[in-house]
Amino acid sequence: MQKGPTCRFCKAYLYHTLVDLGMSPLCESYLTAEQLNQMEPFYPLRVYVCDKCFLAQLEEYVSPESIFSEYAYFSSYADSWLEHARNYSDLMTERFGIDHRSHVVELASNDGYLLQYFVEKEIPVLGVEPAANVARVAIEKGVPTIIRFFGEKLALEMAKEGKQADLLIGNNVLAQVPDLNDFVKGMKILLRPKGIITMEFPHLWRLIAGNQFDTIYHEHFSYFSFIAVEKIFAFHGLRIFDVEELATHGGSLRIYACHNEDNTKSVAKRTTDLQGREITGGFTDLGYYSSFGEKVKETKRSLLAFLIQAKKQGKSIAGYGAPGKGNTLLNYCGIRTDFIEYTVDRNPYKHGKFTPGTHIPIYAPDKIQETRPDYLFILPWNFKDEIMKQMSYIRNWGGQFIVPIPEVGVYQ
Ligand SMILES: [Zn+2]
Repeated sequence: MQKGPTCRFCKAYLYHTLVDLGMSPLCESYLTAEQLNQMEPFYPLRVYVCDKCFLAQLEEYVSPESIFSEYAYFSSYADSWLEHARNYSDLMTERFGIDHRSHVVELASNDGYLLQYFVEKEIPVLGVEPAANVARVAIEKGVPTIIRFFGEKLALEMAKEGKQADLLIGNNVLAQVPDLNDFVKGMKILLRPKGIITMEFPHLWRLIAGNQFDTIYHEHFSYFSFIAVEKIFAFHGLRIFDVEELATHGGSLRIYACHNEDNTKSVAKRTTDLQGREITGGFTDLGYYSSFGEKVKETKRSLLAFLIQAKKQGKSIAGYGAPGKGNTLLNYCGIRTDFIEYTVDRNPYKHGKFTPGTHIPIYAPDKIQETRPDYLFILPWNFKDEIMKQMSYIRNWGGQFIVPIPEVGVYQ
């Protein structure tokens, strides 16, 4: 067997491939019209699985500084995500008594989409966000934010200044951390003795079972099962005492962790339940991981077969959304303007730009009304219900929705 890179957690050599999506550009590097005639860097999108700790992971080809310093993703552009954030803030204040005496810190706080709900409740907050452009939006909203990458070094500085957390939040960040050990070590330092960590990240189980290969991109260095994340936390002196399975981002886990030494929190039954289900499901068995690659190839073939058929019938297809995941799908399947004439996005930052690699132009949503396409191809399929509701007027001219994942489907 060919020796690959080493595991970012346990440092064992990686021998096994979960899926190989070929070469792809960075999925958030939208292009301006001037950039269309220039070379674009493409990097391998090959996911390994570690046979020691079962962490699924990409090799780090690109430094986080070049990915995250100017980031196009503003959390506040998705209504259902804001709703999710508000519900979370209510849940935490009720369940753990987080109030004006507490200190809430969020890592990768983005544009303040979540901390703003704690600010509303007059609870002291602090965000940490490396992307200066989104962090500035948070600061303008009244969410104090440190513009830095988080790790042991920053945690020590914050602890020294008395900025430790009673509630330490990390949503959709753990997957995006290249130096996983440095990050979790930092969380251990930043957490007050009786504090609580909650983190949300896409569940590897849902990725595999739901065929969500498009959630694989260079910005996501790691893909976690519950078993793998538990090992990583345990190694750093943190224990997971509760877990919830959420529907967000195609199926995520929300874990609740505390210091090993903290005996005030008892382990919820659903923690041991999930552990048991993952083991029965095959997550500690390499055989489980090896069938995924073939399933992904088959999905590509049937999606292309559908699009070719539609184009032969003279149908027009427009995209909806230009999310990172869309770019993995478009590049892996080779879908360009020969299939999708243009796409639209609510984020004005992307208007007038082009999708990386596939060069599909991005417009404001009004364009759909003007051109009346036969099909609207929904790229952020995790928001498909919300989008179909929002765009229901395409039915006025007989327009239909295409949803590509878990397999191509058409909705009236
Ligand atoms: Zn490992």
